[in-house]
Amino acid sequence: FAGEWTFIWASPSIETLPPMAGMEVAFAGRSNVGKSSLINSLTGRNALARTSHTPGRTQELIFFEGPDGSDFRLVDMPGYGYASAPKVKIASWTKLIYNFLQGRASLARVYVLIDSRHGLKDVDLDVLKSLDRSAVSYQIVLTKADQVKKSELEKTFEEVRTELRTHPAAFPDVLVTSSRTGDGMAELRAAMVRLLNE
Ligand code: GDP
Repeated sequence: FAGEWTFIWASPSIETLPPMAGMEVAFAGRSNVGKSSLINSLTGRNALARTSHTPGRTQELIFFEGPDGSDFRLVDMPGYGYASAPKVKIASWTKLIYNFLQGRASLARVYVLIDSRHGLKDVDLDVLKSLDRSAVSYQIVLTKADQVKKSELEKTFEEVRTELRTHPAAFPDVLVTSSRTGDGMAELRAAMVRLLNE
């Protein structure tokens, strides 16, 4: 992780993806879950992933490459579940994501971000089910942990852990993070490095 992360590719459709290479981990979550902030915090680059863009607007898969041609890539998936997104937008998101997940052998894991304040929503459960169906390994990352009381955080954490037991492709451990305080970032980086070394 030490060194420069660089933007390498943005793809609005499945036809224009970069060739598969090395190992990829993807980040998914509802719009406004804190995905851009997390990617910026992880990579130590403040403006690598755009924050506070118009919710629901970015319908692209964005690829970043790790330091020094490490063949390690982050994929920023478009946010989902924006309340006022028109149906056709939702359909195009679903198609892009599902197609991506189906055919991507280099994709080692999807980190599904869940806002600590909101917990799992129906739209998240739909995404988890589709990941199960695609047999793509995924792990839940709670975001914005600084925004909730400890008791509330523990309750959400347990709820998520319980739900994951019924999801075959889910990694059982849940990571708790805050981009604001940096909590959990070292654990998330360590989890990614373990994947690389597997
Ligand atoms: P995205 O739409 O998922 O990419 O979400 P952003 O990263 O743009 O974050 C959405 C909003 O949540 C912004 O106002 C961020 O400043 C805020 N935010 C993101 N992460 C955190 C966090 O860890 N703690 C707090 N308090 N706010 C956060």
